[in-house]
Amino acid sequence: MSQGLYEITVDATVPDAIFDAAPQRAAGKRKARAPKPRAERDAVADVINYIQSLPHSHARKVHGGTHSQVGEPDVDACVDGRAVKLEGKTGYHKPTAVQRQALVRWADAGALAGWFRSVDDVRDLLAHVNDRRFVVDLSQPGCDCPLHAERVS
Ligand SMILES: [Zn+2]
Repeated sequence: MSQGLYEITVDATVPDAIFDAAPQRAAGKRKARAPKPRAERDAVADVINYIQSLPHSHARKVHGGTHSQVGEPDVDACVDGRAVKLEGKTGYHKPTAVQRQALVRWADAGALAGWFRSVDDVRDLLAHVNDRRFVVDLSQPGCDCPLHAERVS
């Protein structure tokens, strides 16, 4: 009879009732829902409030953490009939490759998609909301067109 690799040892001295899985479950949940840094949450909230203040506009926060939302932009909005998808970043952070891919998918489908560090960045982007041919440069936050490139965020 072989032993070793597939040998399973069970410590029968510990009844199941004593084992408490709650701490491990809680740790797993904490990891899965790692909160965004406060500054980034605030920036996203500011942008949602800003878009909500515009006519014919609606915005909601996309909650990360679930598998289906990986890479999806933080802000899901519609402005005057056009889908708007925005990723929020703070400091020197830039969108990850997966986040950029998500923005490109939305842009290819006709959404105005970009990323921001401030409400001003979003204001610049939304100046182009009615120009379907305008292509957002995703290497920069906000808008890098000649009209908006000079403002530093
Ligand atoms: Zn612009």
